[in-house]
Amino acid sequence: MRGQAKDLSDCNTCFIYDEGERESGLEANLRLNSLMFAYVRVIGEKMFEGAAPRHQLSFDNPPRPADTRAMIELEQACQRILAVLAPLPPEPIPLDAAVGRVAAEPILSPIDLPPFDNSAMDGYAVNAADLRSARAEAPVKLELLGQVAAGQAFAGKVRPGTCVRLLTGSAMPPGADAVVMQEDVRLGATDPPQVLFGEAVKPWENTRLRGEDVKRGAELLAAGDRLTAMRVGLLAAVGLKALKVARQPRIGLLATGNELVEPGQSLPAGKIYESNRAALAALLTAAGALPRAYPVVPDTLAATTAMLEQALAECDGLVTTGGVSVGELDFVKNAFEQIGGEIQFWRVAMKPGKPFVFGRWRQRLLFGLPGNPVSAVVAFLLLVRPALLRWQGATRVDLPAHSGHLAESLVNRGDRRHFMRVTVDPSGNVRSAGLQASHSLGSLAAANGLVDVPPRTTWPAGTVIRVMRLDF
Ligand code: AMP
Ligand code: MG
Repeated sequence: MRGQAKDLSDCNTCFIYDEGERESGLEANLRLNSLMFAYVRVIGEKMFEGAAPRHQLSFDNPPRPADTRAMIELEQACQRILAVLAPLPPEPIPLDAAVGRVAAEPILSPIDLPPFDNSAMDGYAVNAADLRSARAEAPVKLELLGQVAAGQAFAGKVRPGTCVRLLTGSAMPPGADAVVMQEDVRLGATDPPQVLFGEAVKPWENTRLRGEDVKRGAELLAAGDRLTAMRVGLLAAVGLKALKVARQPRIGLLATGNELVEPGQSLPAGKIYESNRAALAALLTAAGALPRAYPVVPDTLAATTAMLEQALAECDGLVTTGGVSVGELDFVKNAFEQIGGEIQFWRVAMKPGKPFVFGRWRQRLLFGLPGNPVSAVVAFLLLVRPALLRWQGATRVDLPAHSGHLAESLVNRGDRRHFMRVTVDPSGNVRSAGLQASHSLGSLAAANGLVDVPPRTTWPAGTVIRVMRLDF
């Protein structure tokens, strides 16, 4: 039996088999003594070390020229992806569909905001000079000329000795330069109606001045700003109904793996539910892309080639999961090259997510994510999400982040940066979110942050660190 052990540092699946006696069953049994083809999930190095002396392990994908290429750094990988993106063309959309989209051109305010001086309170419009002498024991009486509800304009003028009843948002009547809250007045005689003021008021107190929030002509959004709910509100407030944004990238979503079963079906022995497309479709949507899920791709070169070909014809780019590692059933790279795609790089010096592959087929892009659910999500967030946002012209493409302090130590014994799942509480206390293995969706779902822990590093409790948010 040919034996050869490869670097297992990011390998949590491997094939252990005896050439000649290989069987087709992909059972989750570690049947090492029988030397039958076994599909083994190796969790950590311990199990590998235990298996190695007793059996010769052979990884079935013989090293290819590409396999010997060095891993690249995450930042370099990001740069190389961003460098090939040609901006997607702009398109007009109605404002109510704009959230999450990226402004394709600067938006200047066509009006002042507020558009006119108005009252910040329910109260009385006065001339501040009239109340200069007002005291509780010697109130000033002003004649009440009438009232202005929000949306109305007052025809008259506030002359010395008079006041006007206003509601919040009512336009300031000409002549008035301040508002007194209704809680601070008493009503006096009724004929003519009078209002008693027991204290002075500063000019323009309790008013909202024309243009104090936004001046006409001011830039509301720069090209490349993403539309948040609040920005949508601002554009509506200045009367905009539509705007130009970048077209959304259409992204085909492919999951590869013979072991995958669609959720909702029964689970035969040795199979697992396919979960990557669900998570990634949601992440794609949140990044402004239009996901299009394809059926699960079986682990054969023919099926992988056919599905890649179809999806590339229908989409601007593809996100695939699984099949990019060194196993004998990892076909994505081969299939992509077979249909004329060019692999730009493979393997990034990070954990989880190392076997990430980036390729180009004409103007279309391939983002090949590892199959492990955590690796797929982390590699997506660090490498694909920035690309999708920049493709749409976004200026800011990184995950939102802030500082926090460790409530317990974080240890990375490995030789690659480890993006560890953490929870961060509202006071900024950061803790591990649980099991840090790349199959562990439980801790990923519990986490609200990722922390980039450098290789061979122990960070003691109390260390101030940067936390990238997962709950954006
Ligand atoms: P691969 O990258 O294809 O070697 O897969 C690595 C691990 O991730 C294996 O344990 C797979 O069973 C698992 N896996 C691959 N694809 C998926 C998926 N779509 N959903 C859930 N687990 C997956
Ligand atoms: Mg696979």
